[in-house]
Amino acid sequence: MNHFGYRDGELWCEDVPLARIAAEVGTPTYVYSSATITRHYRVFDDALAGAPHQIHYSVKANSNIAILRLLADLGAGFDVVSAGEIHRLEVAGAPLDRVVFSGVGKTAAEMRYALERGIHAFNVESEAELELLSSVASAMGLCAPVSLRVNPDVDPQTHPYIATGLRESKFGIPWPRAEAAYARAAALPGIRVVGVDCHIGSQLTSLAPFLDAVDRMLELATRLRASGFPIEDLDLGGGLGITYRDEAPPHPDDLARAIIERTRGCGMKLLFEPGRVIVGNAGVLLMSVLYEKASEARRFVIVDAAMNDAIRPALYGAYHAIWPVSASDGSEVIVDVVGPVCESGDFFAKQRGLAPVVSGDLLALMSAGAYGFSMSSNYNARPRAAEVLVRGDRYDVVRDRESMADLVRGERLPAR
Ligand SMILES: *Cc1c(COP(=O)(O)O)cnc(C)c1O
Repeated sequence: MNHFGYRDGELWCEDVPLARIAAEVGTPTYVYSSATITRHYRVFDDALAGAPHQIHYSVKANSNIAILRLLADLGAGFDVVSAGEIHRLEVAGAPLDRVVFSGVGKTAAEMRYALERGIHAFNVESEAELELLSSVASAMGLCAPVSLRVNPDVDPQTHPYIATGLRESKFGIPWPRAEAAYARAAALPGIRVVGVDCHIGSQLTSLAPFLDAVDRMLELATRLRASGFPIEDLDLGGGLGITYRDEAPPHPDDLARAIIERTRGCGMKLLFEPGRVIVGNAGVLLMSVLYEKASEARRFVIVDAAMNDAIRPALYGAYHAIWPVSASDGSEVIVDVVGPVCESGDFFAKQRGLAPVVSGDLLALMSAGAYGFSMSSNYNARPRAAEVLVRGDRYDVVRDRESMADLVRGERLPAR
């Protein structure tokens, strides 16, 4: 459920016509719906009402500070994967004691940064990281709160680039080593064990892999508690999928019900790290048609957004619906929708039925709120898009379109 829809043939976000945003802000522009983000957060949070829990929104899905503040105001905690994301939260005014810090390659400087700010916990992904974190924390006279991210070795049945819980994955501590790693943690002076953690992948569209992971994690946590570890947090990661096309991912209610049933009376708090399901369908990339061009084999619609703005189609072959901002009479032509970047991978759709368009028409790349702007770049020296947050009948530009000066910021010509 989202707040993008047609009224009298025009595509609106909440109570604002997208054509108005394009006219006033230009294109390409990301447009986010605060009502949709709020709704998705509340649905997830309400689904878990029957159990002690905390939602830690995964910042990397969309890290605009306006969205972080919106979620913080709703009561969200956060899952970060870098000190930079903690900085973003700080600027957004989010409470840092609701932050968990994941990632396989945390540096000593990032550990210090997080410890100084009193985050809730580190999700530690290797024994080597444990050793470093202990020495960094000890040197600061602190004890770092830690959950170990273990790899439950379940197949999430998703795209290989976003499967993270398989034995072959770089993420987490291998399942057979988990208890040895906890024993090591207990022996380290700068570490205080608080929980167990996993995250098995992204864009998961069935319940089974989640429940397999829950069963394994619960079993591990129970064993650890029996051996005297004070395991308070059962962090089950993120990964719940969304509908880009015709996927039918589990509803948060069904996921929550099944998990609550399994974990009832376990004495631990449930932590979740959803990203995509909160923001994915809460954003679109608004773009303009530049040209149409036909070869013998194909008909191309060339737009002013490109893979540097939204890389998921190029990176994963991902499907995004493309809607005309002015609805058509229903006729369709088969086209490739492509951007200006000099790569054949720079496409948003291939052999797609789309309403006939002419230069200047507006299109919306749907479901672009997650892993859209946050994965964008300046490739081909393209200034990054503006970002807009809609609230009811008003909108704010929450990130300016980059300027030419932004493109070379920090660069220097050495003396000749
Ligand atoms: C990316 C990530 C998430 C969020 O994944 P979604 O599929 O967006 O829900 C959660 N936890 C960790 C550790 C991640 O790396």
